[in-house]
Amino acid sequence: MNRIYLDNNATTAVTPDVLEAMLPFLREGGHGNPSSVHSFGREVKKALVEARESAAKALGAEPEEVSFTANGTQSDNLALLGHFAARAWRGHLVTAAIEHPAVLRAADELERRGVAVTRVGVDRSGVVDPDRMRASLRPDTSLVSLMLANNEVGTLQPVPEVARLAHEAGAAMHTDAVQAFGKVPVDVRELGVDYLALSAHKFHGPKGVGLFYARRGSKLGPLAWGAGQEHGHHPGTENVAFAAGMAVAMRRATAAVPVYAGRVRALRDRLWSELERLVPGVVRNGDPARVLPNTLNCAFPGVEGDQLLMNLDLAGIAISTGSACHSGAIEPSAVLVAMGVPADAARGALRISLSDETRDEELARLLEVLPAMVERLRRLAVA
Ligand code: PLP
Repeated sequence: MNRIYLDNNATTAVTPDVLEAMLPFLREGGHGNPSSVHSFGREVKKALVEARESAAKALGAEPEEVSFTANGTQSDNLALLGHFAARAWRGHLVTAAIEHPAVLRAADELERRGVAVTRVGVDRSGVVDPDRMRASLRPDTSLVSLMLANNEVGTLQPVPEVARLAHEAGAAMHTDAVQAFGKVPVDVRELGVDYLALSAHKFHGPKGVGLFYARRGSKLGPLAWGAGQEHGHHPGTENVAFAAGMAVAMRRATAAVPVYAGRVRALRDRLWSELERLVPGVVRNGDPARVLPNTLNCAFPGVEGDQLLMNLDLAGIAISTGSACHSGAIEPSAVLVAMGVPADAARGALRISLSDETRDEELARLLEVLPAMVERLRRLAVA
């Protein structure tokens, strides 16, 4: 059975060009330590410098503003905890209720260390209202953190507008661009952000490498201590293979943005109109006008999303639900709950996420099996 992968917001497959870029540094000869002064070291140092330059260019940043990290989670933690570490854990953070746990749990930790935190709610569309953000700003607010695109629903957030408000109030601005990069244009100057987080595995790079952007002149405390690599943000011998892979994946992702705006969006929109036609009662979560071009979050009331996920998996189709399964109890997704989606609809939610490699036939196969599956599960639920 040919399996179909429609869970690209969870992770993506490494493409051959990215793998090729990594291999020389995993083989003997390319294994030097970039801090070594001999030729082995100098060669990999050169590759690391080039990877940083290329990554910076893809973001509209300067190389000295870019650090390679272990993942998106670490980059988010560096922004939030690093910012307040340099300010004696004093002040106020404003963030949003629909952030990824990499931000939300870091905010919880800040609170334990004495920082005040405001988590701004969202409306039914999943978009943060800039006026609510503005109303949360206080004289001691020193950081605002708002994701560029939500991972579950795909909603795009008004980051440039909120960055302006934050700066007017004297606060710095962080954005988690992990889901947005490669799907919509991401340029740090246009966004007006001071910090930004990326993760390579969301755009056909390897898992376990991220990027942290910190605008020149930013004041950040260290969260780990060592020999100061990666501007002190991620000390330890650099993972040159993964940095090189990430840089190629970033170039590839930047070039793919028009493909997402065109072909991927058209595929996703067609999938939605077919689902609307074929499945009675299906509802779409989020704001169709302000959403990543690859993401469709929809609910099938009367059916548990997890049941659909398992049945689709048996049919060879990988998607995800909006709900998390904790100790056997199926809880509706925190993002959908924050949006005010009723529990029944939230439990029936599916997240279908395409990539620039998704093919028409794959969606046709989904449409062949999903409507009948929903009908069968609904019949079983009332029986
Ligand atoms: N932020 C968002 C919006 C994400 O979707 C993810 C990954 O799911 C992360 C952060 C964490 O990235 P990583 O898996 O590289 O730690």
